[in-house]
Formats: sequence, C-alpha cells, structure tokens
Amino acid sequence: MAKFKDKLKLERFSFGVGDRFAHQAKAQLQAFQRLALDGVEVVPVWNKSNREHTLIGSDPQSVRDSAAAAVLALGWDKSWHVDADHIRLETVDRFLACSDFFTIDVAESIGKPISAEKVENFIERHPELVGAVVIYGIPHPFPLSEEDIAAIVGKYLLAVEEAGRIYRHILSKKGKAAKFITEVSMDETDSPQTPPELLVILAMLSDEGIRVQTIAPKFTGRFNKGVDYVGDLLQFEKEFNDDLAVIAHAVDRYDLPSNLKLSVHSGSDKFSLYPIIHRALVRSEAGVHIKTAGTTWLEELIGLAESGKEGSEFVKEIYAQALAHVEDLCAPYAAVIDIDRSKLPTSHCFSKMNGTQIASAIRHVQQNPQFNANIRQLLHVAFKLAAKAGPRFTNLLVKNEEVVGHQVTENLYQRHLRPLFVG
Ligand SMILES: [Zn+2]
Repeated sequence: MAKFKDKLKLERFSFGVGDRFAHQAKAQLQAFQRLALDGVEVVPVWNKSNREHTLIGSDPQSVRDSAAAAVLALGWDKSWHVDADHIRLETVDRFLACSDFFTIDVAESIGKPISAEKVENFIERHPELVGAVVIYGIPHPFPLSEEDIAAIVGKYLLAVEEAGRIYRHILSKKGKAAKFITEVSMDETDSPQTPPELLVILAMLSDEGIRVQTIAPKFTGRFNKGVDYVGDLLQFEKEFNDDLAVIAHAVDRYDLPSNLKLSVHSGSDKFSLYPIIHRALVRSEAGVHIKTAGTTWLEELIGLAESGKEGSEFVKEIYAQALAHVEDLCAPYAAVIDIDRSKLPTSHCFSKMNGTQIASAIRHVQQNPQFNANIRQLLHVAFKLAAKAGPRFTNLLVKNEEVVGHQVTENLYQRHLRPLFVG
C-alpha cells in the first residue's frame, strides 16, 4: 500500500520538557545543544497540559513564545515543537494556533461499552490477528483467539473512535495544509496495556485513519511525578522491547506513519529505566519520545535555594505553605505521587536548613543521604503557590537567572539526556 506522506515528521529522538513559568526554555535548549555536540540529535518538545495552564493561569501561546525566543537567542537550527499535552475535544481549541504537536488523551474512554456489531466488523476485517501472531523480535507468537480480540476491541474501540473525533477536529480547524504531529495517549488509566493489546490498538488507529506518530501506552509499574520508577525492571524491559517489536510490525502491516514510535510519559526522573531504554534503542534502532513533567520548576527551587538568603527564604515560605495545604495540593495528583507524610519535616525544621541543605533535599541524587523524595514530590505539586506569588517569584528567577539556569541545564543534560541517548 502506498504510504501517505506526513507533512510534519517527528524525528527519531525527541524529548519533552515542561517549563511551567516560561523562564527556562533557553537553559533547557542549552542541554540539547550540548548533546548535539556529543553527536546525538534530540529534538526538544515543550509540553504543557491544560491542567497546568489552568492551575498557573497561563496561556498556551506563552509556551511557544518562550521556546521561539530561546531558539532565536541560541541559534538552534534544528527542529523543535510545542506539545498540546493531554488535550481532549473540549480543551483542544485554545492550543490550535500555537501547537504543532497534539497529545490526544483518550484514557477516559477506555472500557466504555461499544456495540457488538462494531467488534465483529473489526474481527472480520482483521483475520491476520486471529490465531498465533508471529512478530519479529518476540520469541513466542501472541496466541490471540477471537474472544481475546473481541475483549481488546471492546475495551479500546471507543477510545480509538474518540481519538479519531479529536484528530479530525484538529485537522478541520488547522486546515488541510496544516502540519502537525499526532500522539495518542492512554497512559492515565489504571491498568497497563500489554503488547498484544498495543498491536490491536494500532490496527484500530490505522482503521480510524489517524496519522499517529507517537503512542503513549501505560506501562507496567508506577510512574510517579518527579521520582524514580517503582516496579519490576525486568518486566518493564520485556514489555518495552515487545512494544518496540509490535510497533515495527504494525508499521509494516498497517497504514501507519513509518516513524511511529513509543512515547514514554515518564512523569520525569525514571533514572532506573534510562539504561534499559538506551539498550533497547541501540539494539532495535527504534526511536522514542520521552515526555517529562514540569520538574524544571524543582530545578528553579534548587537554584533559588542556593542563590542566597532572599531565594532560600522564598523556598522556605513555599514549603511552609505547601505543608499547610498538603491535602489540596496533592488531591489532583493522588494517582501519581506517594508521599510519606511522616518523613516531611515540620516547616520549623525546614526553616532551620541552609540553602545547600535545602538544595540537597530537593535535588534528585538518590545516593545523597540528604535527598528526600517526599519533600521533592510535595514541592513538585506546589507550583500553584509560586504562581500565586506572581512577580515576586518570577523576579527572583530573573535576578538569579545564572544559578537557576545552570541547575536546569545540568539536570537535563547530565541526569536525563546523556544516560538516555549517550549511555
Ligand atoms: Zn501522560
């Protein structure tokens, strides 16, 4: 079958960064520049969800503006994108003008009922999926019975149809000549998608006519915000490698973009997975998109803590307020944080710490005995408080641009990009 030519093609390696307060795009881009000097080209994608915009009171255009300014200032001549992260039909519109990457979130439609006729039609169209599906790179064929397929289609078809509705909405609003990248995400749900499920989902996405370039399944294990992976590393490695094989198979078999790749919604800092992902990419020559959460905000706090008295006082205030509002702040993130409250210091204790100690508590260096994952997670969800502080916070960022920017660049380059793409 002649393959449709996609107008905007996402590169093999891309990495999504969050910049909640739109002050660190330059510092982030510098990390990509350093990686390019190492000989690895990774495309930056600035992502910010509707939820983040709402909590901060920012506008999607601000993400594009600050990214564009950084690209211009640093003379970045490679690609870059702006991701409308986790959008749905009711939230996509205000992202249309400023985004060229759309993460269509259909997790809510998973498991919703669909007619038996549609399920039967799918099975009739796809006899190749019934029986033992042999996939290059996976030792044992998937034993998929008609009942298995019916169960998968029954669970995911409505979500795929919803993705189609949103995709066609973007297409119609942006016009035929529009260039954009489509991601479909199913990660914000309870149970992970297995590789056989992924295969059937990709066949459905092809049938639906969605030019999906990245697919974000939910993987096995916990992907909490801003901290490391919690789960079975061997199981993750097997699943990740099987998913890569499934994608290569589906691209070959169905009408899907040739550059289709996995998107890992990492929630940031899945350091123990990085060597696994790196090995898999080297072995398979596949591409990947790694999306991180807005943890750049934590690097801003680390920089401020180390910048002197004014900055560290500000961090102490944020911590005290966060502790006082811990329930409210954590509620929207209940599924993606695990805070042991007994390990959170009182605000009095926190206020006695010096800047270096505060920075060490937040900075994600697991070998450092002063690192405290509970403080880190609480502060991660406390960005709303900094938004409330308004110019007092952003003026501190400007005043301490150098020390803050250094944290942002070093964190991204040393702890993320290098382990993932250089090894
Ligand atoms: Zn996600």
